[in-house]
Amino acid sequence: MRGVIPEIAWAPRGACRDSDPDLFFPLTSSAEQEERAKGVCAGCQVLADCREYALRTGEPDGIWGGLTVEERRRARFPGGWQHATAGR
Ligand code: SF4
Repeated sequence: MRGVIPEIAWAPRGACRDSDPDLFFPLTSSAEQEERAKGVCAGCQVLADCREYALRTGEPDGIWGGLTVEERRRARFPGGWQHATAGR
């Protein structure tokens, strides 16, 4: 029996488990695809766990926890990127 990775033990309960991976990880995203994926996330029982994981780990691709890559970036860095020498 294969072990479950504790950090994502919630994943098998995700509403996307039977979805087409291209909906969540498309080669080229579109507003329509993002809204469809977010619609699946909206009814997901592990949305909070998924979102927390993606924000904490900085998942670089796809829709996680109902958020796009850009939405996760803004949530993680609400002030935007600050260069180390900014303000000097
Ligand atoms: S929140 Fe969305 S991406 Fe995360 S497990 Fe649920 S359906 Fe999948």
